[in-house]
Amino acid sequence: HGSAGVLDAYQRSVMNTFGPPKRVFVRGEGCYVWDADGRRHLDLLAGIAVNALGHAHPTVLAAVTGQISTLGHVSNFFATPAQVALAGRLAGLTGDPDAKVFFTNSGTEANEAAFKITRMTGRTKIISTEGAFHGRSMGALAITHNPKYRAPFEPLPGDVTFVPYGDAEALAAVVDETVAAVVLEPIQGENGVVVPPPGYLARARELCDAAGALLWIDEVQTGMGRTGSWLVHTAQGVTADVVTLAKGLGNGFPVGACLATGRAATLLGPGSHGTTFGGNPVASIAGLAVINVIERDGLLENATAMGEHLVATVEGLGHPLVDHVRGRGLLRGIVLNADVAPAVADLALEAGFVVNAPRPHVLRIAPPLIITAAQLDTFTEALPGFLDTAARTAAA
Ligand code: PMP
Repeated sequence: HGSAGVLDAYQRSVMNTFGPPKRVFVRGEGCYVWDADGRRHLDLLAGIAVNALGHAHPTVLAAVTGQISTLGHVSNFFATPAQVALAGRLAGLTGDPDAKVFFTNSGTEANEAAFKITRMTGRTKIISTEGAFHGRSMGALAITHNPKYRAPFEPLPGDVTFVPYGDAEALAAVVDETVAAVVLEPIQGENGVVVPPPGYLARARELCDAAGALLWIDEVQTGMGRTGSWLVHTAQGVTADVVTLAKGLGNGFPVGACLATGRAATLLGPGSHGTTFGGNPVASIAGLAVINVIERDGLLENATAMGEHLVATVEGLGHPLVDHVRGRGLLRGIVLNADVAPAVADLALEAGFVVNAPRPHVLRIAPPLIITAAQLDTFTEALPGFLDTAARTAAA
């Protein structure tokens, strides 16, 4: 027992694509996770916007164990009640009851399916945005902006144009009848929780309509209640042709989905795409349980209220290093006046809080949607100490 042996084995046996791990976690319950040395941490990241209901949620456990002991997996040549039930629930969220779903195991794979849908339009050009993150497989990477992620893997699928995020005029300048799709995150999570100006998605919708292009909204990080609504774009009255989901959908169980409405829902047919595990009944029942609990326990409302509480209390600290808090619901970025966010995240971890720094000046907070004000306050009360220490270390 203890973390040292596991960390040692990790170095020898796991491809280290994320850098050296800082903790070994062995147990989770609610908003807390315990490391191999017995220390409890408040999980303010929830696996990056994943564990919406917290860890080891009894309803999800009961649903998953019930399903896996009845029917765990069967080929996608066949249908299961769990899969069609989840498809129906997700279609309901798009506002189009005739929406169709392709199930996957991750957000990346959901975007790969969406990418294929765009090719089936007969056009190839995709408009993406600077700062965009859509995944690391070759297709998802082609629409992901970060040059550091892309460079070693060129040539990537081509005909992708990047425009500044949040700039409707920049979109208007490039969206024409040659464009297959515009792909947008409604809030850029990996880029540091960047919120576009009001009306941005609605304007993108108009431009796509005029050009006959698909509007593809990546709600992998923002969707499934994270921001206080099921989906950010539908909450703004915008309909997407293609919506991709994952992360929070399974509460830690791998569940992803590519939803399509209207013409886009007709473009993938037999032979055009496939997956072994996507949509298996265990994953599907997990997704159903998550939706039911979010509804039953009023977690959209809690996400909104707790998000506002976090903004008020963190901004209320009046700390000179805190510029402001951005985001929506429980997807938040604490924007700092100095590039000390990674150091602050390390100090927070030492003190038993899991957060991360998607940008050098942004701390990301994306806790379970069940989090309470008292739990958030333990972090906010400790934050000035982390900020002061990080600032002193940076100055030294
Ligand atoms: N799209 C967005 C907006 C994301 O934030 C992420 C993950 N950070 C992905 C896609 C990729 O999802 P996954 O890691 O499940 O493949």
